[in-house]
Amino acid sequence: MKYIIYILLSFNLMTFTISAEETRQVDKHEHGVGELNIAVEGSTIEFEFMIPGADIVGFEYVAKNDEDIAKINQALKTFDDYTNIFTLPSNSLCELNGQKVALKEEDEHDEHEEHDEHEEHDEHEEHDEHAEHAEENHNEFYAKYSFECGNINAIKEVNFPYFATFTNSGELEVQFISNMGSTSFGVEGDKPLINTDGKI
Ligand SMILES: [Zn+2]
Repeated sequence: MKYIIYILLSFNLMTFTISAEETRQVDKHEHGVGELNIAVEGSTIEFEFMIPGADIVGFEYVAKNDEDIAKINQALKTFDDYTNIFTLPSNSLCELNGQKVALKEEDEHDEHEEHDEHEEHDEHEEHDEHAEHAEENHNEFYAKYSFECGNINAIKEVNFPYFATFTNSGELEVQFISNMGSTSFGVEGDKPLINTDGKI
């Protein structure tokens, strides 16, 4: 199993085992609350973030101008270096071996079912009606990072520079799963870390 996971990650595929991405609807999130799933299996640890665009760039409408686009691209670039988001103890000897960063727009299918106008949506970005429609839009930043660790038990805490990196950030709701069981944490900027001692 581990071998298979490693191969998938090394090609950076999206067809990974536990992917909330498949089932999750972007518009179900709560602004100010980012979600993070951490899964430990053997010597691998995986981080999967789903964070409302409001918490990252301060808006969720479809980018309207160059400034919006620049903000989104800058945010994606920031996610590209995971140390902007979280850090692991260096003595855990964890090496990044898979990564995916994306901006997930609202599921078009869902919207499509409810709004007939949706088909025209993309073609009419300049029309005034678009702004109204856009206000209802949601999107979120999705980021997944996988590590192979030489000494995974040394991960006694995980720190989150995330809160300092993104000034619009709210809380992070963390679900942590290992073969010791599962735990959840609520993390905020005033104490940006989780204590995983004894949980791996
Ligand atoms: Zn939203």
